[in-house]
Amino acid sequence: MTIWNLGSINADHVYSVPHIPTPGETLAATALSRGLGGKGANMSVAAARAGARVAHLGAVGADGGWMVERLRDHGVDCTHVQRRDGPSGHAIIAVDAQAENAITLWPGANRDIDLDAVKQALDRAVSGDLLVTQNETNSQVEAAALARARGLTVAYAAAPFEAGAVRAVLPHLDLLVLNEVEARQLSEALGTSVEDLPVPHVVVTLGAQGCDWIDTASGTRHHVDAPRVAAVDTTGAGDTFTGYLLAGLSEGLQMPEALTLASRAGALKVGRHARPMRFPRERRSSGRPSEVARGTN
Ligand code: ADP
Repeated sequence: MTIWNLGSINADHVYSVPHIPTPGETLAATALSRGLGGKGANMSVAAARAGARVAHLGAVGADGGWMVERLRDHGVDCTHVQRRDGPSGHAIIAVDAQAENAITLWPGANRDIDLDAVKQALDRAVSGDLLVTQNETNSQVEAAALARARGLTVAYAAAPFEAGAVRAVLPHLDLLVLNEVEARQLSEALGTSVEDLPVPHVVVTLGAQGCDWIDTASGTRHHVDAPRVAAVDTTGAGDTFTGYLLAGLSEGLQMPEALTLASRAGALKVGRHARPMRFPRERRSSGRPSEVARGTN
C-alpha cells in the first residue's frame, strides 16, 4: 500500500537574531542555517521513517534539487516531484534568543503544481492506497476527488487553516486531522461541531493532552492520551503525528493502534531538541535512507 502525498516542499532559512526586527529596522543575523521543511515534506519524511511506502507529489523550483535529494535520502519516492521554473517554496525564519520567531513564507513552486501530472501519477495508484494533502499546495480538491473516485482513502491535514479551502475539500475526505485551534476555527466557520462534519473520521490533536478520534458514523468520540514528556520543541509535532498515523493505517493497523503509534511519535518529536540544520551537503553516495528524518516546521 502506498501513501501518495500531494504536499509542500520548503527550504527553511533560519536566521538567529538578537531580537525580531521591528518595522523599518535593518538587523544583522548572528547565524544562518538551512533545512528541509514544509508540512508536506515533513509528513512524507515521518511516514517513510515509520516504514511506509511514500510517493511525494509536490514541486520544487530550479533551486530545489537538494530538497528532492534530501527527501530521497529519507526513503521517499520522488519520481513524481515536479520541477518548475520559478523559485522553490521557502520560509524566512527569524529566531531570537527567547526562541520567539517571525516567519515569512513564499509558496513558490508549491502553488504551481501541474494538476495533469498529478493525475498521471495517481493513475499508478491502486484501490486501497492512501492520498494525503494539506493546505500548502494548489489542487488539493481535484486530487482528493480523483483519488476518492479511484478507491483511495483520502486524508487531509487542515493546516495552515483557511476556512474556504477546508470547506471545499471536506466532501472528498475519509479522514480529517486538525489541531484544537483549527477545530475551533472550522466549527466557527461552518457553524457546526466537528462531530457533525461530513467526514467519516476526524482526529483532533490536543498537544500534551493527546488526541480525540471522532467516528462520525457512530457518533462516538475516543480519547488517546499522549505519553508524558518534557517538551523542548513543539515545532512540527502535528506533521510527525499525521505522518505516523497514516503510516500505521497504510500498514493495516486499526485506528486506535495507529493513533497510539502517532501519539508516541508526536511525543518523541517534542521531547527532542531540533537537530541543528546545516547547509545541505552533496548527495550521499549510498542513496540509502538516512537514520534521521526531521522537518522543521
Ligand atoms: P500541532 O503541531 O499541529 O499544533 P499538536 O500540538 O496537537 O499539533 O500535537 C500533535 C500531537 O503530538 C499530539 O496529539 C500529541 O500526540 C503529540 N504532542 C504534542 N505536544 C506534546 C507534548 N507536550 N507532550 C506529549 N505529546 C505531545
